[in-house]
Amino acid sequence: MITSQLLHDTLKENFGFEKFRPNQEKIINSIISGKDTLAIMPTGGGKSICFQLPALVFPGLTIVISPLIALMKDQVDSLKTNGIEACYINSSQSAAEQQTHIDVIKDGHIKIVYIAPESLSYIENLFNTISLSLIAIDEAHCISSWGHDFRPAYTNLGYLKKRFPSTPILALTATADKATRKDISAQLNLIDPQTFISSFDRKNLSLEVRPALDRVKQIQDFIESRPTESGIIYCLSRKTTEELAQKLSKAGINAKAYHAGLDVALRSKTQDEFINDDCQVVCATIAFGMGIDKSNVRWVIHYNLPKNIEGYYQEIGRAGRDGLPSETILFESYGDVIQLQKFASQGLNAEVQLAKLERMKQYADAFSCRRKILLSYFGELVTENCGNCDICKNPPEFFDGTVIAQKALSAIIRLKESEPLPVIIDFLRGSKNAYIFEKDYQNLKTYAVGSDISWFDWNQYIIQLINQGYCEIAFHQKNKIRLTTLAREVLFEGDKVQLTTMVKANIEKTAAIEP
Ligand code: ADP
Ligand code: ZN
Repeated sequence: MITSQLLHDTLKENFGFEKFRPNQEKIINSIISGKDTLAIMPTGGGKSICFQLPALVFPGLTIVISPLIALMKDQVDSLKTNGIEACYINSSQSAAEQQTHIDVIKDGHIKIVYIAPESLSYIENLFNTISLSLIAIDEAHCISSWGHDFRPAYTNLGYLKKRFPSTPILALTATADKATRKDISAQLNLIDPQTFISSFDRKNLSLEVRPALDRVKQIQDFIESRPTESGIIYCLSRKTTEELAQKLSKAGINAKAYHAGLDVALRSKTQDEFINDDCQVVCATIAFGMGIDKSNVRWVIHYNLPKNIEGYYQEIGRAGRDGLPSETILFESYGDVIQLQKFASQGLNAEVQLAKLERMKQYADAFSCRRKILLSYFGELVTENCGNCDICKNPPEFFDGTVIAQKALSAIIRLKESEPLPVIIDFLRGSKNAYIFEKDYQNLKTYAVGSDISWFDWNQYIIQLINQGYCEIAFHQKNKIRLTTLAREVLFEGDKVQLTTMVKANIEKTAAIEP
């Protein structure tokens, strides 16, 4: 019998923690009762405990599938320090090494084995003799080509449920995008999964967006005024990480580059130096940071615009895991947008990726509380402004946009929440284009109620409504615009909406001339 007391005792004895963080215990109880479980938690939220602790109290073996081969050794070492029998199997080991581990598992001495998805077939035969208690799939969004980090090796994992129908599967991710979430449980064949979504709010992270003009100088000044604080600068290309590290080093800053193209030994040296505070700044591609447990990263800078909000949020999430105030800055440049558009249009799921990039750009251009935008993106609707972002600290001038908002939101309802932004604007403006007539939209109520406002302004206003969480873009359904529950308050409860006429017109100019 696994009691709550036993779980708390194990938490204390093996991990040294006094109490569970939000959702950890619920997730563990769900697994223990044998249910498939989907755990969505922000980076640093404490996902590992959710499978490591059950692994200890279960009679059989727990396998943890992870794409992060480079980190398996660290994770296993730290489990061993806590007195937990663990090992790992991946392609970095020789066949003989792998066999040694398999033999140890066979003897029944191991509670947890970390394994890369492509190595799963090696341990297949084990389960004729060893009982499998839990399958944990870390970074589960990697199975979805809708997510931002698709890994082909993950696509085969769907067979696990068929092969081990009575073993609970725990899928874990920090990606909360609704469509990806559904895709994960479909692809893994999860049976009626219990889903736990933790709040994504990280109040200790300040949020700021700056135009990219002179960004190297801006970064240098920023770091020089924080000589004892370490941080990460995310860049789009490997080349930029090296160039930037060089420029900063020349200015006397202890900065190193990190990307997947560098020699493994050099990479792990840089990583160790950073973790041990021997290197102040790492200029990195997104290859850096997954799973790196450095709690006192005081700031994260995005030198380039990230591809989408999921990635951005995960990356800034590496700052301030200790809960202390930490800063984040995003540099926005029009040149980056163009380059990212090119990448997105050539990759998998181009339409979705382009729409997500557009959403990222809208975030950067926004004039409403940035935390509200981020949280509403992840499905958390908040009404209070955060007070810890550049917009809250320096708000633009707002006017009462309630009537404009009501018009737009009713138009979205009249169009049955089934049309993308351009059609909604055409409809509001009473456009006589072919699509409108084809759909007979000219006969609906609210057609042309907004003909007094220009196309450009409508576009700005509706994006502001999305940013404030009144409506959302369904990326996987042709970008149609849907209402959220906040919209009902505006339409039926008389809630007021604030809009601004300000636009970020200067960004294009400033960024375009940067060398
Ligand atoms: P994630 O995988 O969600 O990014 P981790 O599992 O690496 O997060 O946990 C992040 C940090 O939080 C780690 O340093 C971990 O030791 C700590 N942690 C996890 N659970 C607890 C808890 N219940 N109490 C205190 N610290 C915790
Ligand atoms: Zn704010």
